[in-house]
Amino acid sequence: MPADIHVFRCLEDNIGALIRDRATGACAAIDAPEEDAVAGALEEKGWRLTDILVTHRHWDHVQGIEALKARFGCRVVAPAKAGDAVPAVDVRVVEGDVIRVGDLQANVFETPGHCQDHVSYWFGGERALFCADVLFTLGCGRVLEGTPDQLWASLQRLAALPDDTAVYSGHDYVLSNARFALMADPDNEALKRRAEEAQAAKAEGRFLVPSTLRQEKATNPFLRAGEPALARSVGLEGAGAGAVFAALREWKNRA
Ligand SMILES: [Zn+2]
Repeated sequence: MPADIHVFRCLEDNIGALIRDRATGACAAIDAPEEDAVAGALEEKGWRLTDILVTHRHWDHVQGIEALKARFGCRVVAPAKAGDAVPAVDVRVVEGDVIRVGDLQANVFETPGHCQDHVSYWFGGERALFCADVLFTLGCGRVLEGTPDQLWASLQRLAALPDDTAVYSGHDYVLSNARFALMADPDNEALKRRAEEAQAAKAEGRFLVPSTLRQEKATNPFLRAGEPALARSVGLEGAGAGAVFAALREWKNRA
């Protein structure tokens, strides 16, 4: 694998990520939640920041951009749909674009639903997916703009990537996600084991990022909206997966 990936905590519950090309030393931060946390992670690893790949315009993903750019002279890549809400942008990306970090390549997927400008970065050669606030370990983002159908379509698209894809999400909500998942899908043995793993990780100060798509497809209730068990738990037996997904998302908002 020609890349190194490092994840670390930022702010309250954000997860920062760095991906570095071993061949060239180029290194991208996925989002910039906080200047000091990102700079500290770079220093700890001895890496040089060349790029910031922004997933969406929310403040907890962009507030460190200007300071990091001033400090490292890095390039800032951001979704075109975010417009001027992301500061100091050099490259605006849309669906289908390919972004290089040194010799590494990422495909840009527009993944709306949490917000309209959200993109995810797929490093196919490294089997690494940076999907910020779309897909979380055992959960998914809130629908703040757009519709549940949009978020469901975005999730299905990500779920179609290879099972061994490492999923790097933008927040650590694993314990509350696990509590909800166990309510929604109480007979899922793989989920029970995963929830125990989440408890143990938390007790040791770790967080379960990255996850894999295989794990998420087996345990994440939002990716399992097409399963009869999930339809049953929201009282929508026989309904389509999109409707079950919307009901699960609504239930989680109230849970
Ligand atoms: Zn967000």
